[in-house]
Amino acid sequence: MPERRTRRRSRRRSPAARSAAAAHGAAPPPRLRIGCGADAHPLRPGRRLVLGGVEIPHPRGLAGHSDADVLSHAVCDALLGALGLPDMGTRFPAGDPKYLGRSSLWFLEEVMREVRTRGFEIVNVDAIVLAEAPRLQPHIEAMRAALAAALGAPGLSVSVKAKRLEGLGAVGRQEGIMAQAVVLLAGEAG
Ligand SMILES: [Zn+2]
Repeated sequence: MPERRTRRRSRRRSPAARSAAAAHGAAPPPRLRIGCGADAHPLRPGRRLVLGGVEIPHPRGLAGHSDADVLSHAVCDALLGALGLPDMGTRFPAGDPKYLGRSSLWFLEEVMREVRTRGFEIVNVDAIVLAEAPRLQPHIEAMRAALAAALGAPGLSVSVKAKRLEGLGAVGRQEGIMAQAVVLLAGEAG
């Protein structure tokens, strides 16, 4: 098939084209790092429900040492993972009194300091909260804005989605809430 061969060849840059690009100082590609994070906390009476830094009215909230904000924790772990660093539990041990009741947006700000110290910036964040109740759709924009502010990233680079599990499993039985996040970081070419 001569046509197919021609197409394949035309996608590849010839050595001459590569050296021409080098001679014109074509910028090397940025360093890219991807990271994923996940978290889960049980729902308990007498606790505030905080997701993505936003307090959401609900008879029960997530239990944990800090404010137990699963969404912020998943994003934190994704950032740390992208840098190849130990997870949140290792970096901010749950037994440490200085983290007791602390807003999880503070953890995000701390981790972002580390991201920038290492020469990276956020390209985008995509996160999903798995919760049977309450209905999270009315709070999505507020969560997105709060996360973007804590990360120092443009709002459009942060995506938050909510998903119900249709009664399946512990999340479906409203025993807890889970979150997952993926982040992409870009650094200067090195
Ligand atoms: Zn957590």
